[in-house]
Amino acid sequence: MIKGLPPLSTLIGLKVNSRPTAGRCVACLDTNAFNGLCTPCRLELPVNRFGCRRCGLPLPESAMPRSCGECLLDPPPFIRARIPWQYRFPVDGMIGRYKYRGDRKFGRPLIEDFSRFLEQDLREEPSPETLALVPAPMHPGRRRQRGFNHADDIAEGLAKHLTLPIHAGLIRRARRTTPQRALTRAQRLDNLRDVFEVSHEPPSDIAIVDDVVTTGATARVMAANLLEAGARHVEIWALARTPAQGQYDG
Ligand SMILES: [Zn+2]
Ligand SMILES: [Zn+2]
Repeated sequence: MIKGLPPLSTLIGLKVNSRPTAGRCVACLDTNAFNGLCTPCRLELPVNRFGCRRCGLPLPESAMPRSCGECLLDPPPFIRARIPWQYRFPVDGMIGRYKYRGDRKFGRPLIEDFSRFLEQDLREEPSPETLALVPAPMHPGRRRQRGFNHADDIAEGLAKHLTLPIHAGLIRRARRTTPQRALTRAQRLDNLRDVFEVSHEPPSDIAIVDDVVTTGATARVMAANLLEAGARHVEIWALARTPAQGQYDG
């Protein structure tokens, strides 16, 4: 069982190696790792098995149809979400280390496994063949602070595995926003007004690539902007989806 991610000091010296069987498990330091995770730790990742087909929100196993209340009442502009994990331990910690500390050791196992998940998911429910990847943008100031945009990094990993084109820079962030989490739905949408701009004519079929879908409000706005600019089909591809408030507490 994964008790906690090892302290960074223990991990110094572990290299991101291009050979999948090289290196230790980032969660328990076992040497028998594949793409940065050992099999027992990989089996403990919180799979988003019963997510809403449209937005990926984790639902109870019994939910039928597989759609959340919000998507039924107010369907989002994107057509589907492909999101393999719930944003819970240890995926939340791994994404945090990857995103805020630029530590790719923690991103790599997730991106590699995400690619394999997508291969299978796309066989079961294909996307249009002309699908292009569009990384979710980061405000240039924040990008300078962090040194990289994790969404670009994830999209590059997926593009390599799945042989898909990337349209980086298609959507830009025109201004910073306050964090979405503490806001009401109306405030969230207001907070996101005019945040994005589409820089040129988009391809017709798009998967927006991001790390985490929290409320889905940002994804809705990005998808709406792309459709307005001429895209026809927009999907959301992310590593993890935040469960509804109150779900899995304690
Ligand atoms: Zn492990
Ligand atoms: Zn939904």
